[in-house]
Amino acid sequence: MLTRILQLSALVGMLGGLCLGQPSPRQRATHVIVIGYDGLSPRGLAEASTPNMDRLLAAGASTMTARAVMPTSSSSNWGSMIMGVGPEQHGITSNEWQPDKYTIAPSVPGPAGFSETMFSVLRRARPSAHIAVFHDWKDFGRLVEPDVPNHISHEMGPRLTMRKAVDYFKHHKPQLLFVHLDHIDTAGHRAGWHTDTYREAVELADQLTGDLVKAVEEAGIMNQTAFLLTADHGGIGTKHGGETMEELLIPWFVAGPGVAKGRKLSQPVNTYDTACTTLALLGVTPPSVWICRPVAEAFAE
Ligand SMILES: [Zn+2]
Repeated sequence: MLTRILQLSALVGMLGGLCLGQPSPRQRATHVIVIGYDGLSPRGLAEASTPNMDRLLAAGASTMTARAVMPTSSSSNWGSMIMGVGPEQHGITSNEWQPDKYTIAPSVPGPAGFSETMFSVLRRARPSAHIAVFHDWKDFGRLVEPDVPNHISHEMGPRLTMRKAVDYFKHHKPQLLFVHLDHIDTAGHRAGWHTDTYREAVELADQLTGDLVKAVEEAGIMNQTAFLLTADHGGIGTKHGGETMEELLIPWFVAGPGVAKGRKLSQPVNTYDTACTTLALLGVTPPSVWICRPVAEAFAE
């Protein structure tokens, strides 16, 4: 009899899934902060003293073998991270790409003519959502639909970029805040990946990350805020853009409400999964044309 009841309930469950289709993901966080560190490799993170990142790492779910997309250039990877698709779909195959200058057309043009970003998807799902972007590399700006974020600005240098982001957070408490820091990549190009100069750049990034965490704590909304920390690519020698594991592997970690504490992810994570996971944390269904998946293994339930 018990077996029969279990069979019946399994059947009802299956039918329910078929009839109702994909439910919207449950909203886990009211605020999501994504920090992207240009050129931060897993090895670079391991070799530096990073107490603030370590704290988030211990509090959340992480992998040090997440993958960038090919080519391991900045634009193709920042694009993938926020557009939920890879270069084959968004067509951003080099830093030469411009919204009106490319050789590979976007498979599904979004509202601005290029592949839609997670900022635009959130704006459509939640018209009143507060969205802010601070980027330390000027060319990041062209990857975002101009009229979508409430605020988007290019700031000069990591300290000013984070200071502006922290001030903005204190005043507006955006639902989605994206901060791009460029200086680790700069250190890699100038002195070499995994040199002392590079390590010092990682340690500065950690201090600045701590400033933002502190602002969230002081605002009293740490328990509603998820942090997702990652990079666009690693590096080797003084370069990236090539085909080595040192360039391909990136750190990826998330911490906050509804996220498993201290879980080492065993499933593969690709950089475009950041877009799906960010939206999933906010309870927003990703567009069906995206190829990313929310990193479900990172969620506590
Ligand atoms: Zn880069």
